[in-house]
Formats: sequence, structure tokens, C-alpha cells
Amino acid sequence: MSNCLFCKIRDGQIPSKIVYRDDVCLAFEDINPQAPTHVLFIPLKHIATVNDITMEDRETVGHLYTAAAKLAKERGHAEKGYRLVMNCNAEAGQTVFHIHLHLVAGRPMGWPPG
Ligand code: 5GP
Ligand code: ZN
Repeated sequence: MSNCLFCKIRDGQIPSKIVYRDDVCLAFEDINPQAPTHVLFIPLKHIATVNDITMEDRETVGHLYTAAAKLAKERGHAEKGYRLVMNCNAEAGQTVFHIHLHLVAGRPMGWPPG
């Protein structure tokens, strides 16, 4: 998608602090971190929202979770815990329309979310 912020980050047209990359996903530091660890995991494939995930994307979406869990473990968050969040559309707070899994960790978190 030519006008997608996260496609531009994927393609190196917009700088970001990349922390992980493989042939399916890319992970980079959130520009406005909400916790000591706040990393976004995106599929290389442009998928606008969770509503647009298809059966053929199942492995890709699962891949985001395994990559995020691996980084959480590497950063020492596995035992205390962490949050993985994917917001869908406006009411949930989605602002960038290329799906991304937030890894948020390093501080206690409340529930339910605001
Ligand atoms: P959403 O609100 O769509 O679930 O999450 C979008 C996230 O992208 C936000 O946490 C926001 O801080 C982050 N973000 C927005 N623009 C940029 C950017 O240009 N670079 C990076 N690294 N993160 C961004
Ligand atoms: Zn995109």
C-alpha cells in the first residue's frame, strides 16, 4: 500500500528503531512508548485491520505472536508478564491501518483497558 505508514517503515522510507525482522514480520520500537518495552510487530504483508485477516493469513498472524513472545522472553518479561494487543478500528483506538501487535511490558497494567 503506497500510502501506509507501516509499509513505509517496512520499506525503509521512514526511519524506525527496528528490533527484529524475518521473512514474515518486522518489529520496531513504538515512537510513543507506553511502557519500558513497547514494540510493534507487523506482518510484511499489508493487512489493514483484524477484520481483513483471512484464513490464508493464519500462519502470518500466529507468527506475530511467537515473535513477540520470543522478544518478551529475551527482554526478561516472560515470568512477570506482558500484554499483547491488536486494536481494531476507531472505537478500539486503531490509528494506523496496517495490523500491528503491541508488545507492552515492564510495568504493572490495569484491566479492563480504558
Ligand atoms: P494503534 O493506535 O493503531 O493501535 O497503534 C499505532 C501505534 O503506532 C501507536 O502506539 C503509535 O505511537 C505508533 N506510531 C505512530 N506513528 C509511528 C511512527 O512513525 N513510528 C513508530 N515507530 N511508531 C509510530
Ligand atoms: Zn501497510
